[in-house]
Amino acid sequence: MIVVMKKGTTRAHIANVSARIEQLGCRVHISEGEEHTIIGIIGNGRPLDCEQIERMDGVERTVPILRPFKLASRDFHPRDTVVTINGVTIGGSQLVVMAGPCAVESHDQLLETARAVKEAGAQVLRGGAFKPRTSPYSFQGLGEKGLRLLAEAREETGLPVITEVMEPQMVPLVTTYADILQIGARNMQNYALLHAVGEAQRPVLLKRGMMSTIEELLMAAEYILSHGNDRIVLCERGIRTFESYTRNTLDISAVPLLKQLSHLPVIVDPSHSTGKWELVGPVSRAAVAVGADGLIIEVHPHPEEALSDGAQSLKPARFAALMRSLRPVAEAVGRTL
Ligand code: PEP
Ligand code: MN
Repeated sequence: MIVVMKKGTTRAHIANVSARIEQLGCRVHISEGEEHTIIGIIGNGRPLDCEQIERMDGVERTVPILRPFKLASRDFHPRDTVVTINGVTIGGSQLVVMAGPCAVESHDQLLETARAVKEAGAQVLRGGAFKPRTSPYSFQGLGEKGLRLLAEAREETGLPVITEVMEPQMVPLVTTYADILQIGARNMQNYALLHAVGEAQRPVLLKRGMMSTIEELLMAAEYILSHGNDRIVLCERGIRTFESYTRNTLDISAVPLLKQLSHLPVIVDPSHSTGKWELVGPVSRAAVAVGADGLIIEVHPHPEEALSDGAQSLKPARFAALMRSLRPVAEAVGRTL
């Protein structure tokens, strides 16, 4: 349930209502809107007497939230959430492109890619140091050395870095290097990990599981939110279907749907959703056209030699051309890039 406070209500009234809710054994999340303050009630499973709360000073009305996700829902937080990290704003009018290699492979590979994507207009550098691979015999990432290289690339280019964290125990280590913590598709329902990043002092990119529904994605975001971290960006990265010409099937309608249901920013991963570099451009333009707040794109200086995901990686020149082609699409939907 949410409590909508009256326009211009006092802090004392908000504090009173919050205290009463907590006395009843529930938790409180306050969202200050332009006109109304909304108090979200995280219940304890017992029914709450809303009439009693409605009688309190400063309360306009109470509204039940029927969906299972509460803090992630737009009912609780009507305005768009904007996530800011080191000068980069995700979810505002400017689109954010995160780009870089699937995996950090070497100093030269990463630095060359970082310089190229920055030059082309990317605002965040991506690169995996811990890689969730289907086969235990595939390259598993450089681990902490990869994190150090990412920090070096940030130092040189000024680009904030995003990298995947795969286990709760690794959250402190990855947090010391990364600006944004990435939760991969395979870990979307790793609740211990969601709990750990919920307590971390970093924004989280939460990728949709390849076999997860939109509601499950939002429930995963709810875990992070309920542990205190509200700096979450959702990512549609394709789901598994019967189609085999693409690696996954991009659920393009997930973008406007997530934006209707939730206040969290939504970005699209055209690389993992298609698995083919030739499809990355058209799919990126479609994502921007349907209202995505950004993209995360794999770029490699020599895709044919990549240790992972070469087939879907763009060469730097192709990435630069894609960025140019995105600008008119962004403009057409009232965004900048
Ligand atoms: C990635 O972005 O590096 C990745 C492994 O993607 P996903 O978790 O979406 O498969
Ligand atoms: Mn990859």
